[in-house]
Amino acid sequence: MKRISTIVILLMLCLSLIVGSIPVCAVSQSEIDALEEQRDILRTKRDNIASQLTSMESDMEALLHNKSVLDEESYLLSQDMLLISQQLAIYEEAVAEKSSALEEAVRNEQVHYMLYCKRVRDMEEHSSWTYLSYILQADDIPELISRMTDVSDIMSADQISRKNYINAKTMAEDALSEYEEILAAEQRKLDELKSAENELNEKIAESSRMIEALEKDIETYTAFQEIAETEFAEAQALVDKKAEELRKQQEAEEALKKQQAAQTTQQNPTGTTYTPPATSGYYMWPSSCTRITSPFGPRIHPLYGQLKPHTGVDIGAWYGTEIYAAAEGTVCTAVLDFGSTGYGSYVAIYHPNGTTTLYAHMSSLAVSNGQYVKQGQIIGYVGSTGASNGPHIHFEIRQNGVCVDPLPYFKISFS
Ligand SMILES: [Zn+2]
Repeated sequence: MKRISTIVILLMLCLSLIVGSIPVCAVSQSEIDALEEQRDILRTKRDNIASQLTSMESDMEALLHNKSVLDEESYLLSQDMLLISQQLAIYEEAVAEKSSALEEAVRNEQVHYMLYCKRVRDMEEHSSWTYLSYILQADDIPELISRMTDVSDIMSADQISRKNYINAKTMAEDALSEYEEILAAEQRKLDELKSAENELNEKIAESSRMIEALEKDIETYTAFQEIAETEFAEAQALVDKKAEELRKQQEAEEALKKQQAAQTTQQNPTGTTYTPPATSGYYMWPSSCTRITSPFGPRIHPLYGQLKPHTGVDIGAWYGTEIYAAAEGTVCTAVLDFGSTGYGSYVAIYHPNGTTTLYAHMSSLAVSNGQYVKQGQIIGYVGSTGASNGPHIHFEIRQNGVCVDPLPYFKISFS
């Protein structure tokens, strides 16, 4: 018996060593789930920014294309304007030339007209010399005919000459008017092109402004994207880290369970099938309820989320259910504590066989310290005081101060 107790103590020491190697801050799946949810939100945020950036970049492409079309249009327009300006210069020169030619023609025509008028006047003023007197002064018929021919020639020459001068003037006038019309048309065309150029320049300026604004937006969103990328990567790294911690924690838990199983096998060397050792009949189950809500051994604490050895068994029961002394003995502890840590209100009984039983989380006590109780005597009532998340009895058996699994000491079926 003493040897078994020594083995149990050694095993408990091993257990506490293993427990000591497990991270103090235990990770739970729900914590990882929450982190994953947070990470998914960040991923959505990052993806939204990326899709906005993609859309902005495609807008930018369209704007740049539009701008290049406008620039091309502007270049062609400036070429047209250059051509028209050159044509205008040519026509302006032609108009100037024709103007001076016209002036010359007008002057010639006027000079000739003056000469013509002068000759007519001379003939009128010097009546002694007229075409008629010139003809009549002929001495004979052949001379008469010759003089008539001369006069006729002079008169037709005068007429032809005059006609020529008038024609030259008219042609110069026509040409000038034609050039002036072309010049006016060219000028109108140039004015139209200038107005188109102004319009185009406004469009180009507007396009440049839009490109500039979009460039700034893209710059801002690129910075946002970098931040979102970092946030997401950090969230992902945290999820990975916690998942790894959980994995290690589960491995440690598994190792503890194996250790526990080894301990049970040593206590129960009969074989692989677990058979509780024959009860000495010493203990009586301390409740009318037999539902075990948490067994003895390592577990993740329901309130603290940390891996801790469970030093007893939890028996699920309603508030106020009676709690019985498992065996006769002396009440060595009877504490009323309505706080939210530890055992809360509890009773411990020291039995004549040297063991102690403990009953925790009571709502009220029915015994007091130092009182001797009989087996089955009501010692208190079920509650949820101390570190408890619902009404239950935390029941412990201690041998030589070490907590052992109480269940093997009872020959009843637990639910
Ligand atoms: Zn408990």
